[in-house]
Amino acid sequence: AQQSQEGPGEQVERTLVLVKPDGVARGLVGEVLRRVEAKGYRLVALDLRTPTRDLLSRHYAEHEGKPFYEPLVAFMSSGPVVAAVVEGQRCVEGFRSLAGATEPTTAAPGTIRGDLGRDWGLAVQQNLVHGSDSPGSADRELALWFPSL
Ligand code: UDP
Repeated sequence: AQQSQEGPGEQVERTLVLVKPDGVARGLVGEVLRRVEAKGYRLVALDLRTPTRDLLSRHYAEHEGKPFYEPLVAFMSSGPVVAAVVEGQRCVEGFRSLAGATEPTTAAPGTIRGDLGRDWGLAVQQNLVHGSDSPGSADRELALWFPSL
């Protein structure tokens, strides 16, 4: 069994982190994972793959019908992403904090999106990373991306 860095009896949470196709294309996988590990979170699983539209339609079900939905699915299926299962106390909220606000242009400096992202004049926010937005979303998304875990 792998050694957890969490203390005994402490509540360990898991979240889904994606390095989106823009992050992979720009060679920022290592930088994103470095920040996750430097924060003290543990990588439980890691996979490089080009997601199918079917997976993405389930992943982004809450956005179906919105104007950015189709371009978002097209963008996310345009190339490989890195999917990571990240573990640690309050890591759902913690990774959202590392990622920064959705819009990279105005995301706070010090965050992944704020330090490394910007607008590119396209229909979709190419904002480098995804992180589950609640423990419930994390459970749902982890079951989609890592069904065997
Ligand atoms: N998105 C977009 N335009 C918008 C809102 C969202 O292109 O007006 C994209 C963007 O890539 C974002 C993803 O859809 O990361 C999911 O949106 P959400 O509001 O859940 O943002 P997040 O939780 O990723 O910050």
